[in-house]
Amino acid sequence: MSDVNVLDMARKQLAEAAKYLDLDEGLHAVLAQPKRQVIVNFPVVMDSGEVQCFQGYRVQHNTSRGPTKGGIRYHPEVDVDEVTALSMWMTWKCAVVNIPYGGAKGAVKVNTKKLSPRELEKLTRRFATEVNIVVGERSDIPAPDIGTNAQVMAWIMDTISMQAGYTVPGCVTGKPIELGGSEGRVEATGRGVVVSAVEACKVLGMDFPSSKVVVQGFGNVGSVAAELSEELGAKVIAVSDATGAIYNENGLPIKELYQRYSGVEGGIRNYKECQEITNKELLELPCDILMPSAIQGQITGDNAGNVKAKIVVEGANGPTTMEADQILSDKGILVVPDILANAGGVVTSYFEWVQDLQNFFWEETQVNDRLARIMRDAFHAVHATQQKHKTDMRTAAMIIAVERVAHATTVRGIFP
Ligand code: NAD
Repeated sequence: MSDVNVLDMARKQLAEAAKYLDLDEGLHAVLAQPKRQVIVNFPVVMDSGEVQCFQGYRVQHNTSRGPTKGGIRYHPEVDVDEVTALSMWMTWKCAVVNIPYGGAKGAVKVNTKKLSPRELEKLTRRFATEVNIVVGERSDIPAPDIGTNAQVMAWIMDTISMQAGYTVPGCVTGKPIELGGSEGRVEATGRGVVVSAVEACKVLGMDFPSSKVVVQGFGNVGSVAAELSEELGAKVIAVSDATGAIYNENGLPIKELYQRYSGVEGGIRNYKECQEITNKELLELPCDILMPSAIQGQITGDNAGNVKAKIVVEGANGPTTMEADQILSDKGILVVPDILANAGGVVTSYFEWVQDLQNFFWEETQVNDRLARIMRDAFHAVHATQQKHKTDMRTAAMIIAVERVAHATTVRGIFP
């Protein structure tokens, strides 16, 4: 999906953390590989009557700390290496916020824009059936990712339930509320991004409500992060989507933009009291906090030197390349890494799963309070590790995560 070999990148990050931990070589080799990779090829009868064959994947990286958890992506260029890297990152993400899961990821190589709703449903139900041998509420719990949504999760839940003979709400998260979804799940990732930003301000002696915030992406993560930042008193001076960015140094009316245009491609450009700029210019604006919350590979060796924010909070997965990371670190910019900053989604997915298993549902304030507590604790644990090892926040987050997974793997021992 991207030019960078993401699996190489994931393994390099593991190797970097391993140096700090003096990780046993054998254990390092175990953690550098996924536990299980399932590749499925399956047919779907299209609306025209023609049969098309699709390839799908489910990769489980590590199960030492619990069942595996991770999204299902529908994308035309996805491959097994990318899914494997994403499953590794899910292991570290769950470990850094200390929830009892290992990492997994799934995907189908498909361009959903070319499918009718009926074809999408049939593809989803057949894929769910193909991976049913490894997926389940006690073993591996999928969630939405790029190209999938709550409706797709509902079809997967229904398919697995039909095959079990009874309703299994806990086999996927990110479901519609009426099917056992959780209050607060939709906003959870953006909320976690803002909690991370507030804590980052505290450790730098900055005041979040007086800060200027720039958000790239106005989809699920970016629009919520922008709206909650405004709610806490910060001035959001620029937001963007794939079609371009809008900027007003006196602040944008985010609540209004959120209500009208969250997730509506190009919608924000209807707002007139602003200057239209490019996504490239947005990343280089003078501001206190930059929240790249769109796609991977946005801050690179080419533009990192021009980033003027004091704090970068990674709402998206992988928005900063390794080369850019070094440049930002040399400039003294505090980067809150993706595996910490955007973990709010998986934390609330964990809450959804717990509620499903108990058939007992929480109020939204309970969900949000518990989420904020977990995010704050994780932030300060990572920050303390960063200070101790005099490294950056990404390496510190990896050190904590790898140490937790390595410890669980060692204590469980090797079967038989
Ligand atoms: P989304 O599809 O709802 O929104 C993506 C936004 O990015 C849209 O506004 C889109 O227009 C914009 N965008 C796309 N290409 C762009 C480009 N080239 N330049 C600028 N903007 C562009 O997706 P989302 O759920 O908000 O996810 C955003 C990022 O956060 C992804 O990297 C995703 O993996 C990550 N993430 C999401 C969640 C979640 O719970 N939704 C959890 C963890 C991580």
